[in-house]
Amino acid sequence: MTTLLISHPSSLQHATPTGHPERPDRIRAVERALEDERFATLQRVTAPEGELAQVELCHPAPFVQGVVAAAPRDGLVELDADTTMSPGTPSAALHGVGAAVLAVDEIMTRRAANAFCAMRPPGHHAESKRAMGFCFFNNAAIAARHAQQAHGAERVAILDWDVHHGNGTQEIFWNDASVLYASIHEMPLFPGTGAASERGEHGTIVNAPLRAGDGSDAFRDAYESAILPSIAAFQPDLVIVSAGFDAHWRDPLANINLKEQDFAWATQKLMELADRHAGGRLVSILEGGYDLEGLSKSVAAHVMALMRG
Ligand SMILES: [Zn+2]
Repeated sequence: MTTLLISHPSSLQHATPTGHPERPDRIRAVERALEDERFATLQRVTAPEGELAQVELCHPAPFVQGVVAAAPRDGLVELDADTTMSPGTPSAALHGVGAAVLAVDEIMTRRAANAFCAMRPPGHHAESKRAMGFCFFNNAAIAARHAQQAHGAERVAILDWDVHHGNGTQEIFWNDASVLYASIHEMPLFPGTGAASERGEHGTIVNAPLRAGDGSDAFRDAYESAILPSIAAFQPDLVIVSAGFDAHWRDPLANINLKEQDFAWATQKLMELADRHAGGRLVSILEGGYDLEGLSKSVAAHVMALMRG
């Protein structure tokens, strides 16, 4: 079975202010990296536009309608200091949801081995009723709920290795024993949440914070001692990765010093775990990563590992 690569041109139509790190060139850099002949066997799929009902799996309808309605007819509008909408933002955000849902459909029905959604804007800072941190709709959270509602998955694990804590995903599943949220991130750093003491109502939130300046050794220690065992014990039916690549040493928004090989290693370890506990079912969704070279090399390493290359 093959690895799916899901993308859509609308990812390029969500504009941000000049100098903003979350910019269309991120997707162009990822696409260029995945054009290499090593990736010729990827099954390339165009994302559909997500339906409002799918977004509403994790966000109340008035919030969803409010986000769509907030987009300007031209120019840019700020939702907060970090989070800006352009005319193309609703389409980009909804296609991001559509990509995540399609990935779940394809993986849960065994039409592909695993999937990577190369889309923007990212999602893991989006709380149920709040867009923030470059994010509007929480793609990974929606994917988890969709796996449960459409495919009967009982337990879904979300592993978030973006360098920032996924406060949105944590908020959405804080009271939900059927979804494990496990995050490894730099702290203190935006958004300020993610202490190890934050465990959720049912102990299904697992936070493994790293310190500024940490590198491969600290990351791998935390990954093997806290993250992977918690997922294995949870026995998920599906593993979703909030795959941000801003813990790369080149990234300007954080100070964790991973190399692209660390993302390949983390992917391989997670695939071994998914093989043992989740029938190999794994869906990966792009989150952050703001240095174009660090991002593109890290995505290439991650996707190559997904292809078992
Ligand atoms: Zn991030």
